[in-house]
Amino acid sequence: MADDVELRDLRNALRGYLSRIASDADVARWDRAERFPDEVLGGLAALGVTGLTFDERYGGVGPDYRALCVVVEELARVSGALAWVYLTTVSVAGRAVARYGSADLRARILPQIAAGDLRVSVALTEPEAGSDLGALRTTGALDSDSVVINGQKVFTTGADTAGRILTLVRTSAQARFRGALTFVLVPADADGIEVRPLDKMAGQAAHTCEVFYTDVRVPRTEIVGDVGGALDILFAALDSERVCTGAMGLGIAQGALDKARAYACERKQFGKAIVEHQAIAHLLADMVISVDSARLLIERAADKLQSGAPCGHESAVAKIAGSEAGTSCANGGMQILGGYSYMTEYGMERYWRESKLYEIAAGTNQILRDSIAKSLVGQSVRYRHCN
Ligand SMILES: Cc1cc2nc3c(=O)[nH]c(=O)nc-3n(C[C@H](O)[C@H](O)[C@H](O)COP(=O)(O)OP(=O)(O)OC[C@H]3O[C@@H](n4cnc5c(N)ncnc54)[C@H](O)[C@@H]3O)c2cc1C
Repeated sequence: MADDVELRDLRNALRGYLSRIASDADVARWDRAERFPDEVLGGLAALGVTGLTFDERYGGVGPDYRALCVVVEELARVSGALAWVYLTTVSVAGRAVARYGSADLRARILPQIAAGDLRVSVALTEPEAGSDLGALRTTGALDSDSVVINGQKVFTTGADTAGRILTLVRTSAQARFRGALTFVLVPADADGIEVRPLDKMAGQAAHTCEVFYTDVRVPRTEIVGDVGGALDILFAALDSERVCTGAMGLGIAQGALDKARAYACERKQFGKAIVEHQAIAHLLADMVISVDSARLLIERAADKLQSGAPCGHESAVAKIAGSEAGTSCANGGMQILGGYSYMTEYGMERYWRESKLYEIAAGTNQILRDSIAKSLVGQSVRYRHCN
């Protein structure tokens, strides 16, 4: 696991790389053209950060969850689309296969992720199953050597450019959750898959898609974990995804703070820099408080993930703190930049548009508050939700 100096060096290396290859203007252009910048992800593999959730046997350099959070934060500071695709591939699929996949699946899949050659989308959400994944209807019928999938997913980000879609299917109607759900690593080009991108308000470089499965036959070897064993994988995957989603919010919060501070020192009104007006200075101070507290909570959750202990509570708290730091700092940044905040050139409006997603995805903040509150009085709501 990287120490503080190594994490600082990692952050500096990423910032240097991203500032060369993904300027605000580049990112705005990719979003407008709805084109995913494959070349940026390829460069991340060269920096050695696509193997942070598994060990060197499979080409990885992990697991290292603090480092993972630094990468996600720095990517989100630059582009939500990049951060999300990295997250589903490395944090969710990489971690799920490393922890629960068969030896054969680990040996085939993880080196491709580490090399930056494989992108994986995660398909949990369905039209009737968002926060309530127990309502999931996509079925996986098992025969001797295959699982045959029928159904529909929605909001599957990156499905049209992924090599694999990690798909949650119902393999039993006997229960809502335990024993009834199974993860299958479906080849994205399998016969019977149709992907339709949706029109959305932010992060358009990574398409968020509907995925239709019609008699999609996948060998049983592509099942992750046991048949009916998705629940434990889901908990583990969601813990990691939530900490990382918090880190995405933090990336936006830090980026908004950096841009707003620079602007407030430069922009003069009424004969002085606007940072000298107390209303603006206090907005900046509030942004610093949000960033610092979110960072500490995300580091705490990353350490708990690293320890291997259950971290449902810490990941929920970190996700809420990071995502709400993102929305509040983006909002503060818009106010500080005034009319210029609306202009795409400054990148603040992108933060504002992108930040909302992190309060919704990976378990909405209401569902997670519900879970935190219920655990105070000893009730479990872990079965409800979410991606
Ligand atoms: C841009 C984008 C990208 C996404 N990418 C992916 C992806 O890659 N893979 C994937 O599987 N999913 C993805 N999602 C889906 C995302 O995880 C879901 O939107 C999220 O889980 C919420 O589900 P829902 O939208 O169906 O909302 P619903 O569950 O219908 O919730 C609607 C509202 O009701 C509230 N609510 C629901 N139940 C309760 C309750 N019991 N108590 C209190 N409030 C409640 C919610 O908090 C929310 O405010 C993405 C979504 C977006 C917008």
